[in-house]
Amino acid sequence: MRIDLHCHSTASDGTDTPAGLVRNAAAAGLDVVALTDHDTTRGYAEAVAALPEGLTLVTGAELSCRVDGISMHMLAYLFDPAEPALLAERELVRDDRVPRAKAMVAKLAALGVPVTWEQVERIAAGGSVGRPHVATALVELGVVPTVSDAFTEEWLADGGRAFVEKHETDPFEAIRLVKGAGGVCVFAHPAAAKRGRTVPESRIAELAEAGLDGIEVDHMDHDAEARERLRGLAKDLDLLVTGSSDYHGSRKTVSLGAYTTDPEVYGEITRRATGAFPVPGTGGV
Ligand code: AMP
Ligand code: ZN
Ligand code: FE
Ligand code: FE
Repeated sequence: MRIDLHCHSTASDGTDTPAGLVRNAAAAGLDVVALTDHDTTRGYAEAVAALPEGLTLVTGAELSCRVDGISMHMLAYLFDPAEPALLAERELVRDDRVPRAKAMVAKLAALGVPVTWEQVERIAAGGSVGRPHVATALVELGVVPTVSDAFTEEWLADGGRAFVEKHETDPFEAIRLVKGAGGVCVFAHPAAAKRGRTVPESRIAELAEAGLDGIEVDHMDHDAEARERLRGLAKDLDLLVTGSSDYHGSRKTVSLGAYTTDPEVYGEITRRATGAFPVPGTGGV
């Protein structure tokens, strides 16, 4: 069984449509794929409708969080997407991405880059708007060669010249909300140091105490040493260990299924979840 529990679609900053994503996941030989767009569940219906036979969809989201001034991402799986409290928080975070992206465009304009909100809006095409969309505009304008190259101090990295913060949820609150909606919480890429400061282990221990289910260990942004350390931490804190691609289509170089999750861990996630069930593919449309 090949299980990839972290993928983005055009519902946020991936480049595959939700239908395209599930088709590509089947073509990549995956048995299970999770749709985890940033702060939104808008891709679910299309992904379910297109789901090929033999592929199971895990519905989820990647929630933008911040603790001690450090941005972090919380993967939430199999929660009830209609549960009002989590829905309200998700919409608050997602909607705040629009004025925030506009503010980044204004900063770029002040730096002499002729980017416009209309351009970024066209690139985001209705998806949960984020820095990768702004970065794509910078690529179109020839300011940087690739999306990744826009994530520097010079441009869009945390604290960079054109960076603007967005509303982000306290992760203890996120855990409470996700649990309240019957979901399961996995701390995404907790040691992705190149994105900025990372959350200290003492805080991860507190998150575990508060109900965190697992941590994502096998991820392209973790080197061998970080994975080793995180595996030890997971053992100490009795946390599940996942691995996933964090696929973004052509906006990142990683391919579907590049990192995968152990079937036993997947089984445990599905057992703990009460908000939604994994969706078995029926052939798609
Ligand atoms: P935002 O949620 O708008 O703050 O944007 C953060 C997103 O940008 C992350 O979830 C990644 O998808 C993407 N990202 C962060 N760092 C990089 C990078 N170095 N290269 C490409 N994409 C990145
Ligand atoms: Zn992303
Ligand atoms: Fe992330
Ligand atoms: Fe992600």
